[in-house]
Amino acid sequence: MAHDHAHDHGKEHEHGKENEHDEEHEHEADERELELEARRMLALARIRQYGDPVLRMKAREIEVVDDDVRRLAERMTALMHEAQGVGLAATQVGVLRRLFVFTDAGEDRVLVNPVLTKRSGKTEVDDEGCLSLREVLVPVERPVAVTIEGLGADGEPVKLDLEEPSARIVQHELDHLDGVLIVDRTDDESRRAAQGKLRPQPVLGSR
Ligand SMILES: [Zn+2]
Repeated sequence: MAHDHAHDHGKEHEHGKENEHDEEHEHEADERELELEARRMLALARIRQYGDPVLRMKAREIEVVDDDVRRLAERMTALMHEAQGVGLAATQVGVLRRLFVFTDAGEDRVLVNPVLTKRSGKTEVDDEGCLSLREVLVPVERPVAVTIEGLGADGEPVKLDLEEPSARIVQHELDHLDGVLIVDRTDDESRRAAQGKLRPQPVLGSR
C-alpha cells in the first residue's frame, strides 16, 4: 500500500502528497488516510512524551508472566500499531516493568526481562525516530546484529538472533527500559538540533 510507513522502525515521515492518485479513488484514499492519521494521533496521546520524567526511569524486572503482563503486552501491541510504530516499551505507557513489544519481519513479538547476550562488532549508523519524541529523527550508531534473550508472553524462555532492522528496534526498546533515549545516543550536533525541536513552543500570540 502506497502510504504504508508503519514498518519503518519508528521513523516518522512527512506526509508527502503524491499527485499520481487516480481521481476516482482519491477521495476514498484521503478519507482512509485521515482516519488512520486521527487514530495515530489518539494513540500518540496515550504514549508518554519527551519531558515526562518516567521516560528517564529504570524499569523493574517482572517476576511472574501472568495475565496482567499478557494484557499489558496486548494493549501495548495494539497501541504500537495504531501509532504506526514498530516497537513500544512499557516505560512509554508509564509502566516501569521490563517488557517491550516489537514487530519482527511483520510478526508481533513480546519480550519480558530482555537481555542482550551478543552484539556484533560491526556497527552501523541509521536514523531513528521514537514514538515519545515525535518530531525527532537522529542518527544512532548500533551493532548490526544482536542476540537477545528473555521470556515470551507464555513465560517461556526466548532467544532471538536478530539483524537489521529488528536488531536496531530491540536495542532502542531495551534502552527505554533503562531510561535511555535516542538523543543520548546521537552525535552532539544532532542532539542540539533535536533539543531545539523538543523545546516547548511559545504560546501563539504571546511575545
Ligand atoms: Zn522509542
